[in-house]
Amino acid sequence: MDNFIPDSRIHELMERKPDPSRVREILQKSRRLERLTMEETAELLAVTDPELLQAIFEAAKSVKEDIYGSRLVLFAPLYISNLCKNDCTYCAFRVSNKGVKRRALSMDEIRAEAEFLLKTGQKRALLISGEAYPRDGLDYVLDAIATVYSARDGKNTIRRLNVNIAPLEVEDFARLKEAEIGTYQIFQETYHEPTYHELHTFGPKADYLYRLSAIDRAFQGGLDDVGVGILFGLYDYRYEVLALMAHIEHLEKYFGMGPHTISVPRLEPAEGAPVAARPPYPVSDEDFKKIIAVLRLAVPYTGLILSTRETPEIRAASFDLGVSQISAGSRTNPGGYSEDGSCEQFSLGDHRSLDEVVRDICAHGYLPSFCTSCYRLGRTGLDFMEYAKPGAIKEKCLPNALFTFEEYLIDYASEETKEIGRALMERKLADVPEAIRIAVNANLAKIRDGQRDLFM
Ligand code: SAM
Ligand code: SF4
Repeated sequence: MDNFIPDSRIHELMERKPDPSRVREILQKSRRLERLTMEETAELLAVTDPELLQAIFEAAKSVKEDIYGSRLVLFAPLYISNLCKNDCTYCAFRVSNKGVKRRALSMDEIRAEAEFLLKTGQKRALLISGEAYPRDGLDYVLDAIATVYSARDGKNTIRRLNVNIAPLEVEDFARLKEAEIGTYQIFQETYHEPTYHELHTFGPKADYLYRLSAIDRAFQGGLDDVGVGILFGLYDYRYEVLALMAHIEHLEKYFGMGPHTISVPRLEPAEGAPVAARPPYPVSDEDFKKIIAVLRLAVPYTGLILSTRETPEIRAASFDLGVSQISAGSRTNPGGYSEDGSCEQFSLGDHRSLDEVVRDICAHGYLPSFCTSCYRLGRTGLDFMEYAKPGAIKEKCLPNALFTFEEYLIDYASEETKEIGRALMERKLADVPEAIRIAVNANLAKIRDGQRDLFM
């Protein structure tokens, strides 16, 4: 496959000076929930004027409210192995970092990690691994997926397991699909090819095009729920966002759909990883907020994911700008939940427990959600895009958020969180459309009676 990232066109677009009346027209288009072109996205990214920036932030907030309502979906990463044959210069797991104690969890250890997450109240996890497995091929990962799904805490299970592992061949993507994963995620890290080659000099990941074409192969293997991402700090953020738009346009052209989610990790310090200590293109907090808001406007129907790499302050600001999913209570080392010790992949900006994060989300007026219903009712890929029209998602997302939050409050919340959570539930119940209010209240009553995993 050829490189479909239009390098010189992107450089031209980066030279643009924003025209305020054009920016306002683009914001109007976004408020109609229409996807933006690369050119329009470039115009927004070029904005530095505080008043125009504020207009971008307000438009992003309105788009987010129209599509996602006030729910915020929670998950936690689950690292199964830090074995890796690549040498990404920003990552602690790189093969040349001899200071790392290498470890691939056994199935019993993976079950223990999943049970730990369940006991804190998580229902969604993201399985993560370095690119080297203790057994050949994908078998180890597939066993790990089955093990996570088999973990129990009373009636509760991990209901959706997303996966972030190295790119695969089409046949192996088909096997991942059979294992009933949620989203397959892969981050390009940087779309700028010369920078990519500088930072990935060794191992299979050194092949830029093999990574760039991974989502194509995932679609060909039958997966229809994929996530992309950029590791911000490696190259100019404007280049990266525009290249991401080109990637999405490519996927839409050939497969009729884009990614389900976009992750926006920023480079964090990591042991034995010099590039992480001094990011070549550091992204300021102000620019980071602009990136989130512009992405929200450019691809209104694509979920935006923020991890615990960020501080509680940035995370709280991002809720209003368009982030729809966040991780919480995370550890980034294999075995990190059951025990401490082995090296983290990178340092975290948010060390709070899930309960503390949930409380903070409530305090900001957002509704914590552990919902997994879309994927279990087959509302993924094109079906999800068709379905995610304004109002429709709110009619499902809001009730499902209420059901899963009710479960959390009963089973896992601290007294302090119960108090603020109950008050929030009362307020959010008032937003449930009249037509479904009786059904929603009936389900909530069943949950209080001990039933679990109800959704619509
Ligand atoms: N090993 C696989 C890969 O590289 O695609 C999958 C998992 S890797 C552990 C997950 C992601 O962590 C990478 O795609 C990269 O974006 C991110 N990452 C690596 N080092 C980081 C750092 N120092 N700060 C923030 N994120 C980092
Ligand atoms: Fe390995 Fe992934 Fe880290 Fe690169 S980012 S060294 S591939 S774990």
